[in-house]
This record gives sequence, C-alpha cells and structure tokens, in this order.
Amino acid sequence: MKLFGGIESGGTKFVCMIGDGPDHLLKEERFPTTLPHETIDRVAGFFLPYAESGELAAVGIASFGPLDLNPESPTYGYITTTPKAGWSQVNLHGEIQRRLHVPVALDTDVNAAAFGEQYWIPENRFLDPFLYLTVGTGIGVGVIVNGSPLHGLIHAEAGHFALPHNWQKDPFPGVCPYHGDCLEGLASGVAMSKRWGQSPECLPDSHPAWDLESDYIAFALADLIYAYSPKRIILGGGVSQHPGFHQTVRRKVNQFMNGYVQSSLLSDRIDEYILPPALGHRSGGLGAIAMASLMQPAGEVLADQSH
Ligand SMILES: [Zn+2]
Repeated sequence: MKLFGGIESGGTKFVCMIGDGPDHLLKEERFPTTLPHETIDRVAGFFLPYAESGELAAVGIASFGPLDLNPESPTYGYITTTPKAGWSQVNLHGEIQRRLHVPVALDTDVNAAAFGEQYWIPENRFLDPFLYLTVGTGIGVGVIVNGSPLHGLIHAEAGHFALPHNWQKDPFPGVCPYHGDCLEGLASGVAMSKRWGQSPECLPDSHPAWDLESDYIAFALADLIYAYSPKRIILGGGVSQHPGFHQTVRRKVNQFMNGYVQSSLLSDRIDEYILPPALGHRSGGLGAIAMASLMQPAGEVLADQSH
C-alpha cells in the first residue's frame, strides 16, 4: 500500500501526518519549531520508518514562507526572507528529500490548505478560481487557478494588502515589520493581541475588537473578490473561529461591495460562498498529502540523485 506524508511547517509548530487522505490517516504528530536542523531531524524521524520500509511514496510540505518556488532557481525550495530567527535561507525541500529519499512537493501553507480543501472536498472540486484566506497568527491567501496553486512571480502575498486605516477609530500602528499597518499588520492574531493586550480567544463577543476585525477581513475579502473573482472562498485560521465571525464578515462583504459585483451567490447565497474549512485545522497537512500523491513515482526523481 502506498502512503503519503504531509508536513505543515509553521512558525510555532510542525505537524506531520501520514496516510492517503482525510479518511485514512495512520499517524499524526506535532513538534515545536525550534532550530532548523533540530526540527528537521524530528520531522525526518517521524517518516523514516515508513521510508525505510518502502511504504512512503512521497512527501508534501505546506510551509510558512516566503518560499522560493521557482524550479529553475538554484535556491528552489528554500525559505527566503522570513523574520523567524534561524530560518532564513533554509533549504527545507532539499533537507527533507536528502533524508527520506522520496519525491517532495512544496508549497506555501495557505496554497496547500486551499489545494487540500479543493482536492478532498467533492463540492469544491470544480470551483475555480478557489481561494483560501487564513486569519491566525499571520494572514495568508492561497489561490487555486485551473486546478493548480497560483505561483507567478513568487506566490500570492495578499496578507500584505494595504487597507483603509482609520487612525481615529484605530490608532494602533500595526505589527508588520515591513509595512506596519498592512492587512496582516492590523488584523492578524498577533496584531489583535498587541492592540488589546489579550489574545483573540480571550476577547468576549461584545468587545469592540470583533467589529474592527470583521471590518478589516471583509475589506480584504472584497478586494480579493475584485482581484481574483473566485467561485468560492474558504475563511479559516484560529481568529476566524470566533462564534458568529463568518456571518458578520459575509454581511460586511456585501455592504462594502455595495452591489458592484453582480452575482446571486453574493446577494442571496453568500453563506454558500464564504465558508469555514471543511477539513478544519488539517487543510494544510491534507493539502500537502494531496500534493505528494500527485508526484511522479520515486524512481524517476531518484534517478538523477548521486549517491
Ligand atoms: Zn505587511
């Protein structure tokens, strides 16, 4: 039986899983993100028994970035300019491939999450373009176009959109080290914690944080609808799990767009258009498994590796 590995590499933890789809996961483990070699050792250790027994056919990685995803580039598969200490210029793809000797697929965590939601959920399968916005510690956007994650110049970085920032209503300067008050700078979980002095999960429903947060996310989604014209949007990540958040954001998206984009999906059925992830917190890892399952057989890739 063929098994596929999924790695979700995040700034605070790595999640490893093995199986061949959402209904068949054999094992799942999480490790804290520490130094690169230490973390990669633990990840490799998780998969090694399956690689040695020949059951592991390929591995997919859903990683924090930015990443070099250009296969022509000498630094393909590297994490590039991350502010995460020690992880800048780490060859994540190469290290995993070197230790496990199986083909390795790599994409951004949120592209993989988008791909997982589209690939494994039959109702999403032919909705294209398909978009995933995650609002957690950071904010990221994954876009699937013609069945593949969109890369282009680098990959979508729509978490860094500029937004209208009403300094009177929200005097908080933002937390993005590059832009200050971009979308991620104003509306990520880290921004919420810093602005209000407590983490989002501790902020009660009645707290003004939620009105402001849903404003920012609805603005971002309206912009993403203008830019990509997606057929469906998945709104995921820890912050989005706040009760009633999806409902408020849906209402505000329509309010901000003011009828400009004419579709009954928006005006009458927006609850079928902006949805929470069907795979829950496993979208990224299962997306990585989906990517791995589409890799070429091991022999073809291993043929050009010198041992
Ligand atoms: Zn930014």
